[in-house]
Amino acid sequence: MLTTDAVKQVVDVAAGNAEQVDADGAFPAAAIDALQGSGLLGLILPEAVGGLGAGPLEFIEVVRELAAACGSTAMVYLMHAAAAVTVAAAPPAGMPELLSAMASGKALGTLAFSERGSRSHFWAPVSTAALSDNGESVKLLADKSWVTSAGHADVYVVSAGSASGIAGEVDLFAVPSSDSGLSVVAPFAGMGLRGNASSPMTLDTTIPVTSRLGEQAAGFALMMQTVLPWFNLGNAAVSLGLAGAAYAATIAHTGSARLEHLGESLSGLPTIRAQIARMGTTLTAQRAYLKLAADSVSAPDDDTLTHVLGVKAAANDAALAITESAMRVCGGAAFSKHLPIERAFRDARAGAVMAPTADVLYDFYGKAVTGIPLF
Ligand SMILES: Cc1cc2nc3c(=O)[nH]c(=O)nc-3n(C[C@H](O)[C@H](O)[C@H](O)COP(=O)(O)OP(=O)(O)OC[C@H]3O[C@@H](n4cnc5c(N)ncnc54)[C@H](O)[C@@H]3O)c2cc1C
Repeated sequence: MLTTDAVKQVVDVAAGNAEQVDADGAFPAAAIDALQGSGLLGLILPEAVGGLGAGPLEFIEVVRELAAACGSTAMVYLMHAAAAVTVAAAPPAGMPELLSAMASGKALGTLAFSERGSRSHFWAPVSTAALSDNGESVKLLADKSWVTSAGHADVYVVSAGSASGIAGEVDLFAVPSSDSGLSVVAPFAGMGLRGNASSPMTLDTTIPVTSRLGEQAAGFALMMQTVLPWFNLGNAAVSLGLAGAAYAATIAHTGSARLEHLGESLSGLPTIRAQIARMGTTLTAQRAYLKLAADSVSAPDDDTLTHVLGVKAAANDAALAITESAMRVCGGAAFSKHLPIERAFRDARAGAVMAPTADVLYDFYGKAVTGIPLF
């Protein structure tokens, strides 16, 4: 059972370590330990496997609160959740314990989709999966460009061009961190989400065919029907968590920073108040859109696809605008890192370039509403 106490305890740990995680570019180990002990890694997994059986609405709330405390922790959590729901949708036959380990927090997961060859077009991996002659094993060769929690996760959900050999078909595999064919190629040094450990990885390994998620060539459908809705909701929630933190810090700063010669605070200035109003109305509108999209994923109808496509792009752009306004409104105090705003500003740059990128999503949305196939 999910309790607000469990969320608060994790959020407190994440918030207490966020500055150091960012400064050092260190994986948020304490917050992930707290998550592992909280049950929240199984938040959206079925109770039958030890999860909490929560839905999209609870999920976006938890992700948003985590992101407001520490963007890196929230992104590590989101990638775990996206990997876990994908495993739940098509558990690999040869790994019967995997899902309960992901639900209990014993196994931290992540997605290894993006590739050097096809960049943000995650639906088109150029890596390869080749079946052995007896059909019992798969030779996996992959060059992954970004993998959040690289070197820290216990299991990687890896995409590859399908062993079917048919162009456009995709296979997904669960690869445990103990596989000696997995390599973290370089350290992660991002401008934001600096604790993410989103390093490039290579795979050159032979794994049992029973590590595949679902049937051969089921990967594309899993990406579109399972990963896309949960990842887009969660990524939008990260963006709005960061934007909300910047907004709250802006209100606090402008209310307390004094212009002594005028006898007022920064929020006494009408231009500052107008900027704050734009931030607040944008944030409120995007929160409502995210709730609408989450409701729609819970009870799908004809509009669910467009909500799933639109909500990430819109929240990503809103976070860019709100954190930029926060930087401007809070002036040199924000620029000089006296406030938590600058970290939210840097962290918020990631959402729009995470695949599916905001630009791609706007194009897909346009295609969807004008009746053009997405692919
Ligand atoms: C912090 C962080 C963590 C990440 N973690 C993971 C992870 O755990 N797993 C994972 O698989 N990936 C991860 N990624 C990778 C991410 O999902 C993207 O694949 C990556 O950011 C794309 O970068 P790129 O330089 O390859 O983009 P490119 O594909 O080169 O795109 C460059 C620009 O072109 C635009 N563009 C590309 N195609 C189109 C199109 N068809 N129409 C319009 N515009 C287009 C893009 O929007 C972008 O603005 C992460 C990225 C970041 C920043």
